Amino acid sequence: MYEVYALKYGERDTTACQFFYREASHAPITLHYFVWLILGGPHPVLVDTGFLDDDARARGIRNYVSPAAMVERAGVKPGDVPLALITHLHYDHWAGHSLFPGAEYWIQQEEVAFWTGPVGRYPAFRQSANVGALANLVTLNYANRVRIIDGDREVLPGIKVHRVGGHTAGLQIVTVQTERGPVVLTSDASHFYRNVETRQPVQIITSLPEMLQAFETIHALAGAERLIVAGHDPEVADRFKPVEPGIIKIA
Ligand SMILES: [Zn+2]
Repeated sequence: MYEVYALKYGERDTTACQFFYREASHAPITLHYFVWLILGGPHPVLVDTGFLDDDARARGIRNYVSPAAMVERAGVKPGDVPLALITHLHYDHWAGHSLFPGAEYWIQQEEVAFWTGPVGRYPAFRQSANVGALANLVTLNYANRVRIIDGDREVLPGIKVHRVGGHTAGLQIVTVQTERGPVVLTSDASHFYRNVETRQPVQIITSLPEMLQAFETIHALAGAERLIVAGHDPEVADRFKPVEPGIIKIA
């Protein structure tokens, strides 16, 4: 059976009106930045790669720790990660890929097409991009390090990716079967529990209908056990079990 860990590598303060869709409140909110690690299978599986210290400095991230250091703290050498599921290509999920030099990266075809296509360059989208990290996609693809997939896939028995879109063109979420039931790693299909629980969108959108449908997909996949892991919510540490600073055991 698999074990799932959320590894926190940074924090950023913003306001509710900057973040939630058509939200009037100026109340402060804090985002936590995570990668997720799945252990207990034939090899470790990483979900997302975080970012490097250049983005941490440029974007006002507090308490940045290299995602590679967090993976190492969880007992896995970063070079020994053979597979990383990339939920989407925003800087905070993709720009740290070079920290995991042995990984094959699984990314949805629509996500690759979007960021290499006609509208990624507009400010509304490009603010979420690390352009150098996106350019590496081509090099890595020709080095057979990228697996471009189209739709839902079984990764290993008991681990699946599900394409939901909405927040980005090819956003995928991950389910993992554990002793406690299915864990749903929502990534940015639900940054906060408030998103999925009240069906509240965020401001960064490629398809609002898909974003709303993704909330329903998360609930359906989670079932009665409700082991939902929101993508950037500090509350993950309260709902699940912190085992060491920055390491939260989900199941
Ligand atoms: Zn994110």
